[in-house]
Parts: sequence; C-alpha cells; structure tokens
Amino acid sequence: MPTVIVATGNPGKLKEMQVYLNDLGWQLELKPEQIDIEETGATFLENARLKAAGVAKALGQWAIADDSGLEVNALDGAPGIYSARYANSDQARIERLLKELEGQSDRSAQFVCALALANPRGEIGLETQGVCAGKILQSPQGTGGFGYDPIFYVPSLGKSFAEMPPEQKEVISHRGIAFAQLMPHLKKLALE
Ligand code: IMP
Repeated sequence: MPTVIVATGNPGKLKEMQVYLNDLGWQLELKPEQIDIEETGATFLENARLKAAGVAKALGQWAIADDSGLEVNALDGAPGIYSARYANSDQARIERLLKELEGQSDRSAQFVCALALANPRGEIGLETQGVCAGKILQSPQGTGGFGYDPIFYVPSLGKSFAEMPPEQKEVISHRGIAFAQLMPHLKKLALE
C-alpha cells in the first residue's frame, strides 16, 4: 500500500481526507510537526502547491495538501487566503465578517478549495480547485460543521452549511467538488 503524507499538522484534515480518498487504498499519514511550510502564496492553489511540494521534498515521499477559504464578493474576495487568520476563533471570525458586511446588499460569496499532489522529488503532478457558491446570512443558522459554516447559505438547497447533514456537505462543498475532480486522475496514478 503506498504511503502519502497529508501536508498538514491538523488531525481533523487527515480524517477528512481519509473519507474522500477511501477508495484508493492509500496509507495516509500526518506530516511530522518539525516540518513547517510557510503559506506565502497569493492564491489557494499556490499555497496548496507550496505545502505539498515542501513536505514531499523534505521527506522524499508523496504528499497531498489542501488550502481553502471563503471569498466574499462585496469585500473584494476577503477573507480569502486569510480565512483562518481573520480573527482568533470561529465565533470572532463570523462576528468580524458580519460586521464588515453590515448594510451591504450584495451578500454573494464562494468557498474555494485547492488541492495539490506532489511526488517524492517535490514536483506537483496533479492539482485542482473546487468552488461552492452561496450567500452570507445576516446571522448564524445551524449547529453543524465548523468555521464559517453557520453563515454560509446555499440557495439551491435552502440551508446553511451548518444545517446540512455531513454527508450532504461532503458532496456539494468546495472540498467535495475538488476531490471529485481529482479522484479519476488519482485512480490512474501508480504510486511507487
Ligand atoms: P486552511 O486550513 O488554511 O485551509 O484554512 C481554511 C479556513 O477557511 C478554515 O480555518 C475556515 O475558517 C475556512 N474554511 C475552509 N473550509 C471551510 C468549510 O467547509 N466550512 C467553514 N469554513 C471553512
């Protein structure tokens, strides 16, 4: 079974990748703590590439990375690649976003997830980006999920991300779309 390093220090992300990549029969492992790749890219894809390539090269193993966040159109795409760093907690991030959108009629937004896979030489072989469009609610709705989920509403389903059962969010989310795009290519790869 090939081993692929998940280029994150977050065990939650490893678990999530396991769900999406289950069919491939890969042994997924968390990157060692001492390898820290700075997210200095200007886009989600650049950051995913930096993380996958940096970890793969440092360890001489295959590595997969994701980078994701929320782009709000009325805020010129903010918080974007700074979504995780927008404030100190999920609640504070939501409060800041709602405050900055006060009085705004354009509530359109999209979640974006970039994925990159690097070979043991640190070369990016595959990459993709998934987008899920929606609207920012006036106040939080629902108790599921994480991050900005309670204020992100998907009009076609009439629910916020936080009101969806996990199986539904897994399919329609930016991350679900990105993994669905990558999967046929991953299946064709023969990892040594
Ligand atoms: P990353 O770990 O650098 O990719 O940071 C992603 C950040 O974007 C997270 O900390 C969340 O704040 C936000 N985010 C990404 N995906 C989601 C999602 O599915 N729901 C809610 N927030 C998300």
